[in-house]
Amino acid sequence: MQYRKDKYGNDISILGYGCMRFTRKGNQINYEKAEEEIMKAYELGVNYFDTAYIYPGSEEVLGRVLKDNNIRDKVNIATKLPQYMITDSKGINKYFTEELKRLRTDHIDYYLMHHLTDIEQWKRLKDIGIVKWIEDKKNSGEIRNIGFSYHGNTDNFLKILGDYDWDFCQIQYNYLDRTTQAGEKGLKAANEKGIPVVIMEPLRGGKLVNMLPEEAKKEFTDSGRNWSPAEWGLRWLYNQPEVTCVLSGMNSIEMVEENCITASDATAGKLTDDDQEILNKVVSIINKKEKVGCTGCRYCMPCPKGVDIPGTFACYNTMYTERKKEGRFQYAQTVALTREPSFASQCVGCGMCEKKCPQSINIREKLKEADKALRPLHYKIGINIARKYMFRKTKKK
Ligand code: SF4
Ligand code: SF4
Repeated sequence: MQYRKDKYGNDISILGYGCMRFTRKGNQINYEKAEEEIMKAYELGVNYFDTAYIYPGSEEVLGRVLKDNNIRDKVNIATKLPQYMITDSKGINKYFTEELKRLRTDHIDYYLMHHLTDIEQWKRLKDIGIVKWIEDKKNSGEIRNIGFSYHGNTDNFLKILGDYDWDFCQIQYNYLDRTTQAGEKGLKAANEKGIPVVIMEPLRGGKLVNMLPEEAKKEFTDSGRNWSPAEWGLRWLYNQPEVTCVLSGMNSIEMVEENCITASDATAGKLTDDDQEILNKVVSIINKKEKVGCTGCRYCMPCPKGVDIPGTFACYNTMYTERKKEGRFQYAQTVALTREPSFASQCVGCGMCEKKCPQSINIREKLKEADKALRPLHYKIGINIARKYMFRKTKKK
């Protein structure tokens, strides 16, 4: 196992255990199986275990395994505040206390504001006193590092990153998401600030393994490298020194062993030009199935009406390279569920963006097409309800 440093010089294993996908037996997590897998990962050097308040049963199982096997102080626990469920300062402490109890511990090593998509959500938390609360918890030693997990667009990521003295952050990043979500730009910006970056969705929830076009799989097979599609995805991440730890939701001993071997062997800068070329070809095969040839360069931004042009096109393409449901889900997360939404339908047709697009995309037409596909009537209704709930007024401290 290889290790990279956190902000304070502590070692974090470059493979982290994502605890949201433990095997279930009926309504419960299969405790014995989860214990075996967690302990195998620990024996092979994994020291970072990531869970969250809302992963059903996950915090309890992780806490019990660490306690029963007497390894709590030998590993790091990362868990998350369900900030979207909190309306006042009392709520913050209530969830945190419950999490400590579930995890059978008196401190959390890496604590995250869960699922921020917009600077407004962070400002809302500040309004109800989160900054003072964090200071108190860090002073008492109950929280060692404070961070946030992020799912919005690059611009909002940079705003949140710059708005507080974070210890770390967690982003969705993989060889397809180089220019969407926080993207490579976000990764580099965090690194420049000396903030470790934990990666989630390194294989787009398994889609870079299970839903790869046959032509793309053939590129990997013909490469002469004896790497599985999963290994290609992980190696691409480990190749970048700005990546600190890559989370994998492992739920078999074979998966744990395979990922630990990769994490022992794949050093930064190890991929050759030929390897990068193969990955580029795979990306272009996936992209061929896309609806819009947007590269995500962002030259067209900002739009005076607040439309997230590359974000919209990324979601539209996802509908055809992956699944319709996936593209619509991403659209809801990155475009629709922000305080100031950036819907394609906000476009007034000024044409400024098209003059700047190096791909000569007919942006106005494509935006109309994309919005129609991404927001069918039942999604519009669901999004409106979710927005009312998420952006309701909160009591000030
Ligand atoms: S044409 Fe539409 S998307 Fe493009 S800059 Fe104008 S308002 Fe924004
Ligand atoms: S300028 Fe064109 S290619 Fe670049 S992000 Fe905008 S639409 Fe996409």
